Amino acid sequence: MKEIILIKNGELALKGMNRCNFEEILIKNIKQKISQLGNVSIRKAQSTIYIEPLDSDFDFEEALDRISCVFGIAAFSRAAVCEKDIDDISKKAVEYLKEQLSNVKTFKVESKRADKRFPLTSPEISKEIGGCLLATYPHLKVDVHNPDIVVNIEVRDYAAYIRAGQLHGAGGLPVGTAGKAAILISGGIDSPVAAYTMAKRGLLLDAIHFASPPYTSPRAEMKVRKLLSKVARYSGRIRLAIVPFTEIQDEIGKNCPEDYFTLIMRRMMMRISEKIANDTGNLALITGESLGQVASQTLPALVTTDYVVNMPVLRPLIGMDKEEIIKISRQIDAFETSILPYEDCCTVFTPKHPKTRPTLQSCVEAEANLDIDALIEKAIKETAFSFID
Ligand code: ATP
Ligand code: MG
Repeated sequence: MKEIILIKNGELALKGMNRCNFEEILIKNIKQKISQLGNVSIRKAQSTIYIEPLDSDFDFEEALDRISCVFGIAAFSRAAVCEKDIDDISKKAVEYLKEQLSNVKTFKVESKRADKRFPLTSPEISKEIGGCLLATYPHLKVDVHNPDIVVNIEVRDYAAYIRAGQLHGAGGLPVGTAGKAAILISGGIDSPVAAYTMAKRGLLLDAIHFASPPYTSPRAEMKVRKLLSKVARYSGRIRLAIVPFTEIQDEIGKNCPEDYFTLIMRRMMMRISEKIANDTGNLALITGESLGQVASQTLPALVTTDYVVNMPVLRPLIGMDKEEIIKISRQIDAFETSILPYEDCCTVFTPKHPKTRPTLQSCVEAEANLDIDALIEKAIKETAFSFID
């Protein structure tokens, strides 16, 4: 029996004039995700995308798993394809749903007749198919209010389709419809969640990581790569810049007051990130900061870090509690990696009494003995780029 995957667009159905463009990007993203699984033909009509495998050994389960990570999709399902003929639909429904119906007690049929030339109305289709299923599987009962399973019949332009329920899509907007921004990624819990959250609103991602060998180990860098690969399941390919940060940290350690270490480090990260991000067409920076979570994330501290860049800084977690952040971290399967105990450059020089209410002026004074421009230039020159899929 011929089977396809039906995909219902999400929020992009609302986008008026931009809709075509959004759909094209969504289709491109879907294609990219499943093209390694074999040849498929993809067609769209009326907020639905039809994916028809052209190879007999197409791995449906793997395809569905990948599609569940594509933003811009409200719902998706496998479906059997039938002729637009009630006898063919009945025969195939009995066969196609056999296994799923054997595991349930109650069901209902919902039908949709998009092609009004089809001789039966939607309620008539439901009645006919429901009767047929009851006659074939006598253990079943109809329950219109709270069925174990909903059987959907859709009569559309080219064919009729049978499916049993559907799965929730990843929601959001297709990646690439909102421009590109650079995530400052650490090995912690927050920044991968921030990256995921912004990709969900349609942003393409670059990533920037500051590494301080030998204070930080190669394992810490591997951890960051692994976290980014979890994000990339949703966002698509990410370009990663690894910036050497050891010298800058040493210089801060030698030349700045201890209570400003973290703040000055954050200001240096922002300055360098803006330059790297600018060179590759990013419109904003993204961080995993959450208001008040640590000393460097009080409002006065965030103001002093923002001040050194012109690019907007997106902080999608700013109003979230740690528990909410951890929930998303688990959901994208990043949590177990995030809590691996490898050191981050931020934990290397943690002041005993970090400044929580810095002023711009006091920050400028605290970093007065640093040759900021030279340090930035050198770090950028030695930055290494790679791609994460
Ligand atoms: P995370 O869990 O993301 O590490 P955090 O709560 O530990 O966040 P900080 O360590 O203060 O907070 O870092 C705040 C933000 O600064 C991070 O979310 C991240 O965006 C950025 N950041 C921190 N360390 C690095 C790093 N080594 N490389 C790149 N960005 C970093
Ligand atoms: Mg951190």
